[in-house]
Amino acid sequence: MKNIVIFGAPGSGKGTQSDKMIAKYGFEHISTGDVLRSEIKNGTELGKTAKKYIDNGQLIPDDLMIDILASVYDSFGKEHKGVIFDGFPRTIPQAEALKKMLAERGHKVASMVELDVPEDELMKRLLQRGQQSGRSDDNEETIKKRLSVYHNQTSPLIEWYEKEGIHHHINGFGELDRIFADISAVIDAL
Ligand code: AMP
Repeated sequence: MKNIVIFGAPGSGKGTQSDKMIAKYGFEHISTGDVLRSEIKNGTELGKTAKKYIDNGQLIPDDLMIDILASVYDSFGKEHKGVIFDGFPRTIPQAEALKKMLAERGHKVASMVELDVPEDELMKRLLQRGQQSGRSDDNEETIKKRLSVYHNQTSPLIEWYEKEGIHHHINGFGELDRIFADISAVIDAL
């Protein structure tokens, strides 16, 4: 079982590279952003709460996210090939909770793969995505807030995972296939 955290700023290509990993390795996939957007679409209480944070570029409180994560993880059963965590963890308490949740099941994160992309490229990609996807948070003002939340609250996880000894840095700027080859090399070595 190879549980992988795919990590990076908004627009770093986590979703795109997750799709390639699912196709190649048969992994399961948890995108917490997708889970929240589907709750919003279905008009649930959780969706209503989440929308206020998302549209403001802020993170949903940790306790809510951690409950969601455990229930989605358990829905994959015990024999999966590995789960890609995409968009989670985003804070140190979330990383600690993930470690604990997995340990309680006799599992662990095998690798944290960081996609590193320059800031001006992130902005360019997210503005472009906003035009195509219509995502309410892909507008210039909210993107700026999300990038600053990434720097303040999420990027300290790089050091946290370095200390765990499972951080892998990937240059996320360039050809999609080269990036995927770099990710595959990390996964194959696990
Ligand atoms: P994403 O699709 O991963 O870019 O997530 C979109 C938005 O959903 C984020 O800007 C947050 O408001 C919220 N979100 C997604 N994942 C998390 C998480 N792990 N913790 C807190 N908020 C999250």
